[in-house]
Amino acid sequence: MKTNSTKTDPLDTRPEKLYCAYRLKGVAASRGIAISKAFVLQGDSVKIDPVLVPCDDVETEVAKFRHAVDRAKGELRSLQSKVAHRIGQESAKIFDVHQLLLEDNAIIDETIGDIRKDKKSADYAFYDIMQKYQNTLDETSVEFFQSRISDIRDVKRRVIKHIQGDRTDYLNKLEGSAVIIASDLTPSDTVKLDRHKVTGFATDLGGRTSHVAIMARSMQVPAVVGLRRISKLIKEGDRIILDGNEGVILIEPDEATIRYYRELQERYYDTERKLSAFRDLPSITLDGKPIELSANLEFSDEAAAAKTHGAKGVGLFRTEYMYLANDELPTEDEQAAEYQKITKEISPDPVIIRTLDVGGDKEPKSFSIAPEENPFLGWRAIRICLERQDIFETQLKAILRASANSDVKILLPMISCLDELHDCMKIIDKTKAALSKAKVAFNEQIEVGVMIEVPAAAVLADKIAEYADFLSIGTNDLVQYLLAVDRGNERIAYLYRHLHPAVLRTIKGIISAGHKAGVWVGMCGEMASDPLSTLILIGMDLDEFSVTPMSVPEIKKIIRSTDYREAARIATKAQEFETASEVERFMVKIMRQKFKDIIF
Ligand code: PEP
Ligand code: MG
Repeated sequence: MKTNSTKTDPLDTRPEKLYCAYRLKGVAASRGIAISKAFVLQGDSVKIDPVLVPCDDVETEVAKFRHAVDRAKGELRSLQSKVAHRIGQESAKIFDVHQLLLEDNAIIDETIGDIRKDKKSADYAFYDIMQKYQNTLDETSVEFFQSRISDIRDVKRRVIKHIQGDRTDYLNKLEGSAVIIASDLTPSDTVKLDRHKVTGFATDLGGRTSHVAIMARSMQVPAVVGLRRISKLIKEGDRIILDGNEGVILIEPDEATIRYYRELQERYYDTERKLSAFRDLPSITLDGKPIELSANLEFSDEAAAAKTHGAKGVGLFRTEYMYLANDELPTEDEQAAEYQKITKEISPDPVIIRTLDVGGDKEPKSFSIAPEENPFLGWRAIRICLERQDIFETQLKAILRASANSDVKILLPMISCLDELHDCMKIIDKTKAALSKAKVAFNEQIEVGVMIEVPAAAVLADKIAEYADFLSIGTNDLVQYLLAVDRGNERIAYLYRHLHPAVLRTIKGIISAGHKAGVWVGMCGEMASDPLSTLILIGMDLDEFSVTPMSVPEIKKIIRSTDYREAARIATKAQEFETASEVERFMVKIMRQKFKDIIF
């Protein structure tokens, strides 16, 4: 395929024609350019390496197989009861056949026999046996037997998944690095990837604030999401160019195109290096207004990167990864160690730890959430913590322990009414009392902030601010709930805009309500990392920006080049527009004039 170019920029070395097999346009989710081979994470299909194992490993393979069968049976039982509960006993009976297949001694014995006799790996042996049964049924046209084929296929996949670990474990065995291609990547998939091997993400689904996009930014790898069909078009090992600045993917580009993108890549990283000059400078406007600039962290080991990028403190530490990756709930000691890892790096600057925010699209491995019709409106975040107080109290104890010698603050997600806030405060007091009784050190005056990310909380921000020490605006959810636009749905991504006049008006209202009640107001949603929004937010008097580490230098540069009074005028003007497009056009024009080297 050819894409025409029009040369206007003298720096543009783009060849007259760019050649590649396919060019796809999606949502630019994380900046940077990757030129790499593709690794396709298949949904449910199984992949078998027909390997033989050394004699010494044979019994380990047998044990692996037995364990996988047990886990598959357990999984089926819980699936069956969920289906019985939601759809009815009759539908749940389909799983009886699956259970029977797993109890069939012929299948089990034959597999173990092949592992011992032929030295096949567990997945290879089981795959072959199941394939044999499947082939026999394939030859019949009787409908009853035909429907049994899908049962066999399902059981085959389920057991092999348990033998191999999940699909991300398979990736971790890969040598070299690759761009990960998938229909979708759940947060649980993403946290398990070996981050040193991932050069980028490209997914069919997702929008700019879907969790895969946020994770990519925090891992500092480029990403394009919402590509709709990339997982179908691409083959494993295909060479691709992923342009996270423009939201474009080129599959199998020619050499001239690759050369061109290598130049772009160098120019991009050169700009990044130049921005790092801002690292040690204070975050203060031209006319002397200090503005807190801190970082959002997904993992404790990002704390050093936050500091190297010039952040003063952590404005949001998302603690979910500890619950997403492991089968067991994290213990109080394990959590305290993670929190202390961050405070050790960041102190004396503050570290704001958000309490557990699973549910929605974040499905924990360590406890189960029953399927729901509307997970983003369902059992999520603080709603889970108020019901599972055991989980909540363990986390609070660990956070409080980390506050003993450092400036640690608590942040409560998804508060939608004052009752929830009061209940949380009671639990925090109870936890403090338990620690005092056990003579464990913590900061008695620890500050507790509330995320404003549900429209009801935005409307009640003045009341909430009376009981909170600070407010932090979570625009990722606030925008989705306020505009009724699913943050992860690429089809309606064009409607998801944080410069929508209703969003701007709501944000202004939250900041004013917080200030009236005497508390500071920050923003930890992705809008804070968007350079197009910075002047408006400064002008609206936002006290703190908490951004992805890689955005810190850029946002700092904008803050340091801005006169607060000018920003206030721009914010007032921006709020007069009627549509998001008008606000965006207005801001692009101003920013292009002021900042030639920043990408908008
Ligand atoms: C938000 O909603 O803006 C936020 C920061 O939380 P998360 O993206 O983790 O839902
Ligand atoms: Mg949120």
